[in-house]
Amino acid sequence: DMTVAGFDPELADAIDQERHRQETHIELIASENYASPRVLEMQGSVLTNKYAEGYPGKRYYGGCQYVDIAENLAIERAKALFGAAYANVQPHSGSSANLAVFMALASPGDTLLGLSLDHGGHLTHGAKPNFSGKIYNPVQYGVTSDTGEIDYAEVERLAKAHRPKIIVAGFSAYSRIIHWARFRAIADEVGAWLVADMAHVAGLVAAGVYPSPVPYADVVTTTTHKSLRGPRGGLILARENPDVTKKLQSLIFPGTQGGPLMHAIAGKAVAFREAQDPDFRIYQERVIANARAMAKTVMERGYDVVSGGTDNHLFLMNLVSKGLTGKAADAALEDAHITVNKNTVPNDPQSPFVTSGLRMGTPAITTRGFGEGESRELAGWICDVLDDIEDDAVRARVRDQVTDICTRHPVYEALQG
Ligand code: PLP
Repeated sequence: DMTVAGFDPELADAIDQERHRQETHIELIASENYASPRVLEMQGSVLTNKYAEGYPGKRYYGGCQYVDIAENLAIERAKALFGAAYANVQPHSGSSANLAVFMALASPGDTLLGLSLDHGGHLTHGAKPNFSGKIYNPVQYGVTSDTGEIDYAEVERLAKAHRPKIIVAGFSAYSRIIHWARFRAIADEVGAWLVADMAHVAGLVAAGVYPSPVPYADVVTTTTHKSLRGPRGGLILARENPDVTKKLQSLIFPGTQGGPLMHAIAGKAVAFREAQDPDFRIYQERVIANARAMAKTVMERGYDVVSGGTDNHLFLMNLVSKGLTGKAADAALEDAHITVNKNTVPNDPQSPFVTSGLRMGTPAITTRGFGEGESRELAGWICDVLDDIEDDAVRARVRDQVTDICTRHPVYEALQG
């Protein structure tokens, strides 16, 4: 029996259960999505067998003529989709992309200015336990306490005081527009490289519904599996600058990676093509409309939202005034089959493991076909659960409602059309 089910029932059962979980739970983790059957097909393709160290036309292995076609398609589509002069599609992940870019632009001990983790930044933007906070000298900016928006005055002040080699703009938990031009101006003022990490909003950027950092940043990094809805992986884009792009090439391979994951690169090529479809823009417009509908509903129900709303695919509920922790809220919603993640809010009184916030995003529910009405309904159920966090009956009722709406919106049937 060549199937995993026949060969390894324990593992096959875990995969089945995960598929069932994805179909029967509502997914609100802002960094997740459901890749298309075409992307899944590429991920399981024979390209996984091929070693292709190097780049198309310049490989260290024979037999690369067909994977070269796949990688060239991915590169050309990435450049066209984002209007970039340069693309490297080999990063295994968003973190690998950032590692290679920082190594290309800075030396160990140089200063790196990024958004702090507890104000919505990513680990790789200079957080202490991460390579970026160990190899480099991290300086961190945040959001203002009144508006919850990036404190550009602080970015400028810190940039002038610390003269960073790299300024990183980008986020994992921030619901507003980033003013890329303001970051560009600050970087120019102090002679820093500007790296934009658009991992969360890459799909919105590709669709033209969120400002693109590509015209402003020296280098742009992203993941391909979040709002962009491709395979798990990373991507680097850059403007025309041979000194920089030569370094980027060599810092991915041989600098920080070995053989590229050719099956994932084929998945990226498919995803970039899917993102060129006019339907993709409609999808991304719905992602934002759904996030706005949810944020508005929870605010009407008396819950605080950091910065008072959203301009993208996610928002952060601040539970401090409700006396709830993110940890307890996350667990209660999980019991109702709604998957979110606890998240620190700016100036959080709780530890990072407990937190006072929830991060919610709409890329996944929008892929399975939820509209604004359903998003409002869902936000109402979330408030019902949190209003009476000890009440098992409320959770049981919401769980039934979740089961019902999930049955009406199957994940993989919806994608197959
Ligand atoms: N950059 C940002 C802004 C992210 O949100 C993430 C993902 O969580 C990453 C980088 C890292 O991506 P990966 O998990 O693929 O390493």
